[in-house]
Amino acid sequence: MRPYILAESNWKNLEFDRFDLAVLPWGATEAHNYHLPYGTDVYEADAVAAGAGKFAWEKGAKVVILPTIPFGVNTGQSDIYLDINLNPSTQMAILKDLLTVLDRQGIKKFLIINSHGGNDFKTILRELGLQFPEMLLTTCNWFQALDKSLYFEEEGDHADEMETSLIMYLHPEMVLPLEIAGLGEEKKSVIPGLNEKWAWSERKWSQVTEDTGIGNPKKSTPEKGERYFKDVCQKVGGLMVDICSADLHTLYR
Ligand SMILES: [Zn+2]
Repeated sequence: MRPYILAESNWKNLEFDRFDLAVLPWGATEAHNYHLPYGTDVYEADAVAAGAGKFAWEKGAKVVILPTIPFGVNTGQSDIYLDINLNPSTQMAILKDLLTVLDRQGIKKFLIINSHGGNDFKTILRELGLQFPEMLLTTCNWFQALDKSLYFEEEGDHADEMETSLIMYLHPEMVLPLEIAGLGEEKKSVIPGLNEKWAWSERKWSQVTEDTGIGNPKKSTPEKGERYFKDVCQKVGGLMVDICSADLHTLYR
């Protein structure tokens, strides 16, 4: 039993234990090229949150990891079989209910560990921040915490070399042989501003990629995944420690 994982704890332990920071991992359920499981983002969220939580706990941070939310925003994948969509307004409603509980019970620090590119919590946390003015609301994308080019050869952002290597390390039994995987080629927009990334429009997934992947997974290895995973857990765990030790009344200097 890990004392920082709420799902593994019990009311006996929580009789006197109190936490400073609640962490909510948030994933998605969606196709990941031909070779990775639909739950890839959930498995990643579970593992990174637990690994980072362990790092923070061992440094003395009073952190509690909530169960992972398994569905994310998949509005651009509505025609891909069984990609499950949770609208941003639904995410807002879920977050408002969770923050109401935490605020009432005296946990004033909150961190989302986001595991899915379609989830964007910044505007939601801006709006909820007005309703919970005593709380520190934070979000992070673990997949942006490190420079991926130091770990992987091929770029990508979905079922790519990074995600494939990670799942090969975390859950090797769930990865099909890489010969089955597509090349994860991304078609570019006919509108240059969108490719330059300063303009934005949601990608229509089934038109952008043939195999649902973006990024070539062929050079993935579990060794690459292990090295990256351990460094990500340290980095995200460090963020948890920093949030725990911050004084809510002196957040700037
Ligand atoms: Zn993913």
